[in-house]
Amino acid sequence: KKVIIVGGVAGGASAAARLRRLDETAHIIMFERDEYISFANCGLPYYIGNTIQDRSKLIVQTPEAMTKRFNLDIRTRSEVISIDPDAKKVTVRSLEHGTYEETYDALVLSPGARPIRPELPGIDLPHIYSVRNIPDTDRIKQQVISPDTRSAIVIGGGYIGVEMAENLKLAGLEVTLVQSGPQIMNSFDPEMAGMLAKEMEEQGVQLILNDKVRSFKEHGVQVEALLESGQTLHSDIVILAVGVAPDTGFLTGSGIKLGARGHIQVNEALETNVEGVYAVGDAVEIHAGNGKTAIPLAGPANKQGRIAADRIAGLSTTYSVSQGTSIIKVFDVTGAQTGLSEKTLKLLGLAYHAVYIHPNAHAAYYPGATPLTMKLLFDSEGKILGASAVGRTGVDKRIDDIAAVLHFGGTVTDLTELDLAYAPPFSSAKDPVNMLGYVAE
Ligand code: FAD
Repeated sequence: KKVIIVGGVAGGASAAARLRRLDETAHIIMFERDEYISFANCGLPYYIGNTIQDRSKLIVQTPEAMTKRFNLDIRTRSEVISIDPDAKKVTVRSLEHGTYEETYDALVLSPGARPIRPELPGIDLPHIYSVRNIPDTDRIKQQVISPDTRSAIVIGGGYIGVEMAENLKLAGLEVTLVQSGPQIMNSFDPEMAGMLAKEMEEQGVQLILNDKVRSFKEHGVQVEALLESGQTLHSDIVILAVGVAPDTGFLTGSGIKLGARGHIQVNEALETNVEGVYAVGDAVEIHAGNGKTAIPLAGPANKQGRIAADRIAGLSTTYSVSQGTSIIKVFDVTGAQTGLSEKTLKLLGLAYHAVYIHPNAHAAYYPGATPLTMKLLFDSEGKILGASAVGRTGVDKRIDDIAAVLHFGGTVTDLTELDLAYAPPFSSAKDPVNMLGYVAE
């Protein structure tokens, strides 16, 4: 059996490793457009901020090591430029070997998502960067460590924008973040996101909300950004983080069905409308609590890569729903969420109840206790719809507990019944998650 995988990072590398474990003889070819495979996308901002100091730690697997470990045929600097599902072949443009075709019995697409570059005057000026991969990161890092680089503008207040703003600040730069809407971290409800914004400001990041860049131009060695409000900003470096779009241009004309925004359409088996062609990761649309949507996060991509491999090997695993569980560190504060937000529930016109609690993350009498703000959303039967939390410690485990209950279709009563680990340094005898259940009941 010959299996081709397009994309060699989160979804693609997971699919390759899993397939090899299930099938010792398959010929597995992994095509990756760039030089690197299996790198830690999520770690890139922390390398720029110098929390991760050793660049080599970002590279989880090299082509050589992964080839050796899993007996794969890895072809880097090789872009799949088109697919012919009728003839079951792909066309590849390789920097070393020119353009050639390769046939397959099964195909896994994991091309990911690329940063959106808004069509603005001056967008192609030097010192305006997006951050997706290692070469982007190298370029940004090189400029950040130069003593001439003192200030940065980050455009976009989502996960990557906020992480980049924090890390550029930690790297010693003056940072301004511009966000088009009234809040940063759009996937959070405004009052929760407000606490994250407050931390950013307290740590010295200037936030400009409800404003957008209209154009860029050169200003000596700096970049000048003109905002729609008329305000102008100057900085040595600009990071664009205004969202991502599926990297699926090469599928145009292939007959593989794409959604309105270019996402690959898949079923529960992660199979496309073309038999034997699977798709995973940031490039696909899947079922979430609010219908079909794209969830560009590493957890779903890795799980889906594994499932696509299972299906190719004849197993019947499925990927049913994604809760969009996510977390962000904003300097000393953490925000996390799972399931639906109140904003989304309102948008969908669904009935819900909301409760908030403000417990300590661990027993108040044990040193270092800090408060949490937790929000739970549930329906009239008590079924959990979503939750979010913000605080300095203990946010991650609370949201993960609730994510697990949500996964199993649990209720507020289930939260009261959870038997959770307790000693004073970690929690209270009634854990905040239990408390949330009591208050909601
Ligand atoms: P990718 O990992 O992007 O891999 C796709 C690969 O396919 C790319 O290397 C690309 O070069 C290659 N490719 C594309 N088209 C072709 C083609 N035609 N031929 C050959 N190769 C091709 N997620 C989280 O859950 N938590 C985080 O903290 C987090 N932080 C992030 C921080 C940053 C800076 C970035 C950029 C992303 C972050 N993510 C995070 C998102 C996470 O990295 C993605 O969800 C995940 O990598 C998606 O996996 P994927 O396999 O779909 O795509």
